[in-house]
Formats: sequence, structure tokens, C-alpha cells
Amino acid sequence: MESHNDSRRHVLILGGTTEGRMLAERLAQFSDLRVTVSLAGSTKVPILQPVPTRFGGFGGVEGLTAYLRSERVSWLIVATHPFASAIANNALEAAARAAVSVLVIRRPPWVAGADDHWTEAGSADEAVGALGGAARRVFVTIGRQQLAALSRSPQHHYVIRTVDPPDPPLSLPHARYVLARGPFAEQDEFDFMRKHAIEMLLAKNSGGDATSAKLAAARRLNIPVVLIRRPAEALGECVHDVDSAVRHLVAELGLVSERGV
Ligand code: NAP
Repeated sequence: MESHNDSRRHVLILGGTTEGRMLAERLAQFSDLRVTVSLAGSTKVPILQPVPTRFGGFGGVEGLTAYLRSERVSWLIVATHPFASAIANNALEAAARAAVSVLVIRRPPWVAGADDHWTEAGSADEAVGALGGAARRVFVTIGRQQLAALSRSPQHHYVIRTVDPPDPPLSLPHARYVLARGPFAEQDEFDFMRKHAIEMLLAKNSGGDATSAKLAAARRLNIPVVLIRRPAEALGECVHDVDSAVRHLVAELGLVSERGV
């Protein structure tokens, strides 16, 4: 951790997303800011961040409030994943308690087009139920945390793609595990789904460009998609992308210009 003698304003970015990393890169250009990224520490080999990084939970609202105070954070940016609702809620509460300004970056959800065959589900359990009773070959991209829901429908043949291996391992009778980290290109997703003879896609409505190619590939292959809806959130001050976040901070903090721009 950097010295408390550092009089620059301290921006804490709660990251774990492309937006968090890109914002850190942009804010690092402002020499009158001190920027820290916080990661949950759940990814085994996280992508390197361009600014000092801390790892692991804070210990709930209390812990985050204490951190904001002791590290003299003046702006808290919530750039976490849209499905990571616990940390977002904690952040808003802790920012209020510590009287710290807060901004949320939330990419908009994906919206079905005329050629899409999407079913929306409110939870992983509901989504697995929506796959139907007949055995299908299902491409699963819902991350690691909710994979246990698949065991309620063991008749399907699952192709499960995650960044790190499921832990604890699943005991599904028909499952293939693929490790990969986005971004993914549409043609690669198309080829992947054809190679594995995929009949349905099970995904979360994360939004953004890095993982949307599977939806375009499903559209081309006429494959039905079951999409888990985002948890409901009361976000407060919110922007949709990194450019808007930088503009907002430049205006609010009276920043002069980005170095080298
Ligand atoms: P979560 O359910 O909202 O958070 C669980 C706990 O993990 C939080 O209460 C907090 O612990 C800690 N935590 C989460 N994000 C943190 C951060 N950036 N820095 C420090 N502590 C953090 O979140 P999750 O769904 O487990 O996601 C964990 C991280 O992975 C998030 O940063 C998120 O952006 C990223 N991610 C999540 C998903 C997803 O689908 N959920 C997908 C891609 C990336 P304390 O209460 O102890 O502070």
C-alpha cells in the first residue's frame, strides 16, 4: 500500500472486469491521482492491472468502510461484473457510510434481435429447467459459481467453458470441460459450437462485447439460448462505459488532461 503522505486524491476501482482494467489504464495517465484496483482474488491467474492492486474481500460493508477511511479514498468506482451484486451493494453502503463519492460502471444488458431464440430465466435453476426434459448438447458459459444447478438435469450433455476449472469438481455423467478466457471471436464460437454439435446455449446476460460472439454464433446456427437475467440492483450514479466514466471523473474532480493525450 502506498504512503499516507501521498496527498493525491485516491480513486479505488472495484474491478474484475474489462471495464475496471481499462479505466485503471486511463486514470493512471492523470499524475494528480493515486489509483488502486481491488480484485476479489477468485481468478487463479488474474490479468495484470496497470496500477497498484490489492486482492481479496474487505470483510463486508464494515471492512470496506474501514478501508475507504484508512486509505483516504475520495472516489469509489464500482466496475464489477453485473452479476456480482454482493460487492456492488456493499460498495454503495460503505461509500455512504464513509461519505465517499461513488460511480458505477454497468454495461447495458444484451437485447434479443428478430432472429434470436432466447428464453430468459431468473436464476440458474430456472435456466437449467428451461433446457427441457429431452437430452440436449448444451454449451454452458455461466461461470463457475452456479454450475451445481446443472446437476438437476443430468440427462444433458454439457460442454462447460470456464476461466478456471470448476472447484469443487462436478459429478455430471455427461460433461466436457473447456478452459478459456475471452474475448472470443464470432467465427471461433461458430466453429466451436459446430465441432461440439451444440444444440442449446446456456449463458448469463452479462452484456458487453468480449463474450457476445457466442450469441451471434447461436443466431447463425439457429440455436436456442437460455439467458439468465441480471440480479435487480439500485445503482445510484451509473454510466455504461469507460469513456463516460472518465468524462464524469474529469468533470467531478476537475482533472486537467491525460498525460500524452
Ligand atoms: P460477489 O458475489 O458480489 O462478491 C462476493 C464477495 O467477494 C464480496 O462480498 C467481497 O467480499 C468479495 N469481492 C467481490 N469483488 C471484489 C473486489 N473487486 N474486490 C474485493 N473483494 C471483492 O462477487 P462474485 O460474483 O463472487 O465476483 C467476484 C469478482 O469476480 C468480482 O470482482 C466480479 O467483478 C468478478 N466477476 C464476476 C463474475 C460473475 O458472473 N459473478 C463474472 C466475471 C467477473 P467481502 O464482503 O469480504 O468484501
